[in-house]
Amino acid sequence: MTEHDKPRRLLILDDEPAVAQTVAFAAKRHGFAIRMSASPEAFFDDVAGFEPSHIIIDLLMPGMDGVEVLRNLAAGGCGASIIMMSGMGSRVLESAQRVGLERGLRIIGILPKPFKPAELRALLDAHAHHRAHPEPITAADHETLLDDIGPALRDEQFVLHYQPKVHLASGRPVGVEALVRWQHPTFGLLPPDRFLPLIEQSGNMTLLTICVIEAGLAWLAGTSDDSARQLAINISATSLTDVNFTDLLHERCIRFNVDPARIILELTETTAPRRTAELLDILTRVRLKGFQLSIDDFGTGYSSLVQLAQLPFSEIKIDRSFVGGLHSSDQARKIVATTVALGKQLQLTTVAEGVENEAQARALTELQCDQAQGYFFARPMPGDAARAWLRERK
Ligand code: C2E
Ligand code: CA
Ligand code: CA
Repeated sequence: MTEHDKPRRLLILDDEPAVAQTVAFAAKRHGFAIRMSASPEAFFDDVAGFEPSHIIIDLLMPGMDGVEVLRNLAAGGCGASIIMMSGMGSRVLESAQRVGLERGLRIIGILPKPFKPAELRALLDAHAHHRAHPEPITAADHETLLDDIGPALRDEQFVLHYQPKVHLASGRPVGVEALVRWQHPTFGLLPPDRFLPLIEQSGNMTLLTICVIEAGLAWLAGTSDDSARQLAINISATSLTDVNFTDLLHERCIRFNVDPARIILELTETTAPRRTAELLDILTRVRLKGFQLSIDDFGTGYSSLVQLAQLPFSEIKIDRSFVGGLHSSDQARKIVATTVALGKQLQLTTVAEGVENEAQARALTELQCDQAQGYFFARPMPGDAARAWLRERK
């Protein structure tokens, strides 16, 4: 049975009958079978017997510890989509949400009390047809893929897709970000998350980076100057340990006749930077040659204020986790607003990624964020399609 034809069963845990009835009424009209429990004991019996696909929990009930309920659900391996409800402030709800997520629960949203039926429906809908996680690659596949990296680099199986970036105030495109994919002969088109760790592991990251740079520059050179001003390229910190990196990059720009000022290097740190002095050295040279430098996924992992303060960035890319929370999380909205303001003060270009709807785009425009990127504007697409998109929009 696929995710789509699973029966939709909603279990509600709430001690206030009026609230539970309102939730039940709205969800029933939405095609859900309903069960209601008014105590944790009855609730856990129902989790086992009713096998709900969705659960709504009131976190604040007399004689009950909401965090304890989440812990027990996680211990029992509960796979249902969970919505948390409470009359408490959003800050507490958000940290309860993190408690659940960190224990592996599928928390799909929070519902403040009193809630509007439309909010409930939006939550139930948004996740009714969620895509299953991509098939995990087995250990054997893992070995095969590792062996395939060398030939893939030789046979140009790594291809680039391009996602447009737009200037928010005018809506006009400013350039694209190059995103690598592996066109694998048996596994099909693989997204970067599936193979970049293998590339790191096999020690081929610098080679891949060079392939990406060459393909991206060739694409840019073949695109009219005024439709794609800029090309953003993701650079893993491991390919920056090579002191020749700057010269290599500069030499390729000369070869493809591309002005370095049109190239933005997006830097992500997934591990603590070890040799900041060396990195500073390389990045300073990169900037002196005229390239732009962006701090990617800002606000997550090691992509933080320390890095921003120490390294010569020209752009901040606000992580999509904050952009996604613009309308559901008070914290996320404040973090985005503060990051945009910080970017302005430091005279950096601010870019928001993962913009998926008009409301987010409007909110970012109001906050005076400079640029945005996301499915709302365009998905990543092959080179020709990206050229056509840019030509139409310019
Ligand atoms: P990233 O740099 O944060 O790239 C943005 C990712 O968000 C892309 O995933 C893109 O497809 C996705 N995305 C764009 N708009 C939206 C949206 O509206 N909603 C959502 N949910 N996602 C959106 P992708 O292509 O799978 O790339 C994943 C990561 O792989 C990138 O994250 C980047 O860190 C890394 N990567 C991609 N290409 C390269 C590369 O050439 N070299 C290196 N070193 N890393 C790369
Ligand atoms: Ca990026
Ligand atoms: Ca990012």
